[in-house]
Amino acid sequence: MTIVDEMTTPPCIFEPEVFHDENLHNPPARHEVSAAEWAQLSAKRASAHRKCAGCPLMVDCLYRAVVEVDVSGFVACTSETDRHRMRAELGIQVAQPAFAFGGARVGGGPLSHDAVMSMRHAYPKDTCGQLAERLDCSTSTIKRHMRRAREMKKDAASGLASIPSLPTIDDVLDCFDGLESSQVA
Ligand code: SF4
Repeated sequence: MTIVDEMTTPPCIFEPEVFHDENLHNPPARHEVSAAEWAQLSAKRASAHRKCAGCPLMVDCLYRAVVEVDVSGFVACTSETDRHRMRAELGIQVAQPAFAFGGARVGGGPLSHDAVMSMRHAYPKDTCGQLAERLDCSTSTIKRHMRRAREMKKDAASGLASIPSLPTIDDVLDCFDGLESSQVA
């Protein structure tokens, strides 16, 4: 028998289909969807946002998702775009992909950067969507690894030793407060 402690279990555990919804963590532009779809997406996002805002793990989850690991999914009130913006503002990069907090990564287990790059080298003419199918992950995950590969190449070419000092929790929270999406719920 499985016993679930609802007092300490994060809400995302109970709704993985929401927190891993591609349209939520990697939203379409307003003009790409109908008014009804936009309203539905906004409502779903606000609901997930409220659950994260009330989660006892919220601060730790946000810090780790922004500073320590590059996770997939809607995490700690942020989309992947939000976290990318925050890292740019904080002047940091995340070295390794990892699990989504509170649940499995989109597509199952963890997917390493090397695994994505190996598949890219094996099938250089594949689109991101085709690579995603081969690796059983989302297209946005493939795009994120491609972006990281470009950034690493650029850093190597410029001779940058990218070992930034880590931001504090307050730095991350201040940055989060500046996001338009932090006001959603
Ligand atoms: S994504 Fe993080 S903040 Fe949101 S419910 Fe899950 S553990 Fe809590």
